[in-house]
Amino acid sequence: MLILGIESSCDETGVALVRSDGQALPTLLSHALYSQVAMHVAYGGVVPELASRDHIRRVIPLAREVMAEAQRTLQDVDVVAYTRGPGLAGALLVGAGVACALGAALNKPVLGVHHLEGHLLSPFLSEDPPEFPFVALLVSGGHTQLMRVDGVGRYELLGETIDDAAGEAFDKSAKLMGLGYPGGPALSKLAEQGDPAAFKLPRPLLHSGNLDFSFAGLKTAVMTQAKKLGGDLEVRKADLAASTEAAIVEVLLKKSLTALRETGLKRLVVAGGVGANRHLREQLNAACKRQSVRVHYPELHLCTDNGAMIAMAAAMRLQSGEGGMAQAQPRYSFDVKPRWPLAELA
Ligand code: ATP
Ligand code: MG
Ligand code: FE
Repeated sequence: MLILGIESSCDETGVALVRSDGQALPTLLSHALYSQVAMHVAYGGVVPELASRDHIRRVIPLAREVMAEAQRTLQDVDVVAYTRGPGLAGALLVGAGVACALGAALNKPVLGVHHLEGHLLSPFLSEDPPEFPFVALLVSGGHTQLMRVDGVGRYELLGETIDDAAGEAFDKSAKLMGLGYPGGPALSKLAEQGDPAAFKLPRPLLHSGNLDFSFAGLKTAVMTQAKKLGGDLEVRKADLAASTEAAIVEVLLKKSLTALRETGLKRLVVAGGVGANRHLREQLNAACKRQSVRVHYPELHLCTDNGAMIAMAAAMRLQSGEGGMAQAQPRYSFDVKPRWPLAELA
């Protein structure tokens, strides 16, 4: 069975083709991605209306590219999957509209996928895929959550951020340091030349006794520190970046280890854009090795938004029967869910 996946929840247009046969893990045949980052840079963040219009321009050419690379035609597609939410309403509507139009034209079912389920299941596309059950640390631009995952569609929220997401903390701190948008990767790169112990920054909720996170205070502390440095900020920037990264990584690490201890599980899956962070991976790898915990990540290029994770989540849903074919829409009316807690999937 061939599943075409379309992602358009924010500022990346992604299309991918996945093959799913029987019980084996689905495999990625081809995928294509267009990032709008260059267009939004001038505004310091994503402009929703510009994002929607650009998805319209990109999605069909990307779909053609994906089919050509896999040497298939659209007629070979058995199910069309799209990101139904959460995300920007207008951007989501583009992917949903195109998916449903394709479904109608090809007379094939259409399946709306949860964006976070896509991130969560993206490590199954890696060379070292996980096995259920596991603890998942989902760290993206809009979400920071720890989950117990027992199977496809079986997600128990253990804790989450009460304000900013980890990716947001990276981005907002980077912006304060004049590192552009999205600043996560830039801050992380600069941090390599800095001293992580140079500045004392808060580790919010580190000892809260639960698995919740808070990153809003960190951003304020970075701002205060930047102001204090004044003209010296330029020469101390790498130190401030390294200290910021160290604070975020320490909280993510400690809470992940607590979640593993509390659930008794010996497997950790990291997903979402911040999962590409080198420092986070090094720290998690070292700590998990000491505790005989296996850690799994998505391939580096599949940490941030992409179509492959959407096609994969749809394929795994269809295989597991968890709201699979029953949820694939035989009719082509659609809605999107800009706000959609993952827990509502269960
Ligand atoms: P959500 O999935 O919650 O809707 P999103 O789709 O915007 O949000 P992702 O695409 O998963 O989020 O990830 C983007 C985030 O990852 C950004 O905040 C970005 O700064 C961050 N990020 C990407 N690479 C790195 C890195 N190497 N170090 C730190 N942060 C990173
Ligand atoms: Mg993005
Ligand atoms: Fe995302």
